Amino acid sequence: MITSFSQRGAIEFREEVRTWLQTALPQGWIESRDSLTEDQQIEIRREWDRTLFKAGYGGLSWPPEYGGRGAGPVADAIFYEELARAGAPDGLSRLGRTVAGPLIMTAGSEEQQSKYLPEILDGSSVWCLCLSEPDAGSDLANVSTSAILSGSEYVVNGTKIWTSFAQHATRSLLLARTGSRDAGRNNLTMFLMPMNQPGVQIRPIRTIAGDHHFNEVTFDSAVVPVSDRLGGENDGWNVFRASLTFERGPAIAMSFFVEMCRERETLIECCAADEGRQTLLRARELASKIELVRWHLSFGRR
Ligand SMILES: Cc1cc2nc3c(=O)[nH]c(=O)nc-3n(C[C@H](O)[C@H](O)[C@H](O)COP(=O)(O)OP(=O)(O)OC[C@H]3O[C@@H](n4cnc5c(N)ncnc54)[C@H](O)[C@@H]3O)c2cc1C
Repeated sequence: MITSFSQRGAIEFREEVRTWLQTALPQGWIESRDSLTEDQQIEIRREWDRTLFKAGYGGLSWPPEYGGRGAGPVADAIFYEELARAGAPDGLSRLGRTVAGPLIMTAGSEEQQSKYLPEILDGSSVWCLCLSEPDAGSDLANVSTSAILSGSEYVVNGTKIWTSFAQHATRSLLLARTGSRDAGRNNLTMFLMPMNQPGVQIRPIRTIAGDHHFNEVTFDSAVVPVSDRLGGENDGWNVFRASLTFERGPAIAMSFFVEMCRERETLIECCAADEGRQTLLRARELASKIELVRWHLSFGRR
């Protein structure tokens, strides 16, 4: 178990991950990714979730009592940086591992933890985040999707948008209103919403490049049992805010970092090709600044 990291420990862990990646990456992903069909890519991404689990990396930073390795955020950052650098697939269970799982550990009941955490960890469930709405994106306190209590379940009506992975999701973290809209953020509630049911309709939103990443999700009298409410009724704002911390954690930050570095290299190459001297100097200055930030973080890179 990795509980804390010395500089040396970080270097050794990075070596461990690099060595593992040399043989673990799926055949065909690196060489011919662009020629794979969407279905083939999805199958590889599902398989990647299982590979991570089998190698003990699925719950790298999860506490051991939940089946993880108990590594801290530094190990997580190193791991995701190396994955991004190697061009590894983005597992379909990523949102489960990095957002839903940690949130269930924090706010879920023991019953919810024992039911959902193992299937998130082994990659057999796929999660999405049903937060944004057509009229409530940045202003999430204004969501209008309603969840009305009826016996032992809530009946959900409304529309969510920009929902990544919804087309594959078995369950979502859903933010819905459990009272009148006048109360703003004070009557929002979080749910662990089952997605495979007649009341849930998923419409793809394709990007200009033709990719199907986003969806519009409509809930039309869909149901979620009271036992799948995450935290107390009307306490959704507090529960949900914790999820943002996980969503923007080291995993995503390091993937973005590697992407930015790639774009920086492309920019420098383009500037050099055009002999745009001033722009080239600016690009190089930017490159130095990014590397300085990287050096400050100093995650044991040699
Ligand atoms: C790659 C990606 C994946 C995503 N995946 C998901 C997902 O899985 N689930 C999900 O629920 N959402 C997802 N989103 C949505 C995202 O998290 C935001 O909620 C959404 O993009 C913002 O809402 P909007 O597009 O309606 O923009 P708006 O809220 O309309 O904002 C438009 C612009 O106005 C600015 N603005 C808004 N309000 C104010 C204000 N009061 N004062 C000043 N400026 C303001 C914003 O900063 C922004 O620049 C994803 C977004 C991206 C880019």
